[in-house]
Amino acid sequence: MSDAPLYLEPRLAPRLASLLDTSGLPHALVDGLGSPLNLVLPEQFAQNAAEFHSVLGRRRLGGRIYFAHKANRSSALVRRLCATGAALDAASLGELQHALASGFTGDRIMVTGPKDPEFLWLAARCGATVNADGAGELEAAAALVGAYGLPRLRVLLRLSGFEVSGVRVLSRRSRFGTSVKDLDALLDVLGRHRDALEPVGVGYHLDTTSLDEKAAALEGCLRAVEELRLRGFQPHVVDVGGGFGVNYLAHAAQWERYTTELTRAVTGRRPPLTWGGHAYGLRVENGTVKGALGLYPAHRPLAGPGYLDELLSLPAPTLGRPLGTLLLESLCDLYAEPGRALTDQCGVTLGRVLEVRPDAEGGPHLVRLALNAGDVGLEDHGVLVDPVLLRRGSTPPGPGGPVGVHLLGNLCLEADLITRRTVFLPALPDPGDLLAFANTAGYCMDFTATGAQRQPTARKVAVEEVDGTWRWCLDEEYWPVTRSGGRYA
Ligand SMILES: *Cc1c(COP(=O)(O)O)cnc(C)c1O
Repeated sequence: MSDAPLYLEPRLAPRLASLLDTSGLPHALVDGLGSPLNLVLPEQFAQNAAEFHSVLGRRRLGGRIYFAHKANRSSALVRRLCATGAALDAASLGELQHALASGFTGDRIMVTGPKDPEFLWLAARCGATVNADGAGELEAAAALVGAYGLPRLRVLLRLSGFEVSGVRVLSRRSRFGTSVKDLDALLDVLGRHRDALEPVGVGYHLDTTSLDEKAAALEGCLRAVEELRLRGFQPHVVDVGGGFGVNYLAHAAQWERYTTELTRAVTGRRPPLTWGGHAYGLRVENGTVKGALGLYPAHRPLAGPGYLDELLSLPAPTLGRPLGTLLLESLCDLYAEPGRALTDQCGVTLGRVLEVRPDAEGGPHLVRLALNAGDVGLEDHGVLVDPVLLRRGSTPPGPGGPVGVHLLGNLCLEADLITRRTVFLPALPDPGDLLAFANTAGYCMDFTATGAQRQPTARKVAVEEVDGTWRWCLDEEYWPVTRSGGRYA
């Protein structure tokens, strides 16, 4: 049993599955545009936004879904989103400019993250909402509004350090936001700048998968809204940030089996499952396993819109009633800033197989690809998921059946493995075959691509199925309107 291949098959929604079934298009595109190559699916992106909106709709909550742009640089995705009712969260001057150039108006943009004066000025100038990190940023924003005669600026207070009374479940330390303990100081600043700043509400963004931490934060925000009201402001928004997560894997059983076998391998009870015995954070001390598995929970049945829905149905830790109900009763709209979850199933990264050779020490075969670890950031994010083998021709799988391989990148660097995990493929690939890394649109497609060694960074192509045929255009050529002759090749 433990010799059976340890597959971690990707979860493929119908669009992505259909795209990878027609391996003719991926091959033709890589032939023409080179490897690596990124494909994005704007229609899936629009569908995901609609699913997030429907969570609000079912609960009769007003509000907005802001796409956290930092997850992907694509123009096609941002332009397609602009044609829906969704909004956008810009974390840099460049992202803000991109959103404006893609058709978003300031009232559909929120700016978050570290802000330099230029970024803050353009945000204020175009009427975006500023998700403010702290008192200093509020002061800077008020000064800009005064100095440049800008309209009154909508601001949202980013809070952190929430506690559940009794048990001290503190949310983890963050470099962003202001501790709720220091809310008073923020309100003092707002009080001095009533002409310049309009506080619309409060929010948080927690980099955690824990629903309990988020429930505590949401309740903390509802209390903060009351504080603002007591000071004579009219807040009407709670922003629950991002972090709704993605379910990357098709089968829970494969994930459970893999993590069990990895632990056995680390304790020497089975041969290694990784390059050089890498243990993903586990270690053995006196025969027992210590440390924590530093991996993304790749099989996550509760993710995306479903996770948001669950959060809203949870009882508030001290007030006891469902958080969604409390939001309604306090007349608050809900803002959310999904990044990864909104890009779920919206992209794939293709890499061409260049060389396949046996390992000199009898380990798994070495498969060298025309892409590197920066081009497909799954490992960097701790996401373990198999690539899909797209054969060049219609060659049936070679003899021998499933094999374990190590995937090597194109950099002249020992550490450049696409993943340190031994990857099981249904058959040994041949040079010229493609490996398709599914579901890379959230952070794993262009966030860490570098152009190191002057290796090419991936071009990006938007694809869509029209009347049963997959069509494509370059990402920058995509607009959400059809021209005569269509938008795609
Ligand atoms: C990164 C980020 C997000 C998006 O997080 P995801 O985990 O991708 O959903 C949302 N809001 C802020 C402030 C962020 O920094």
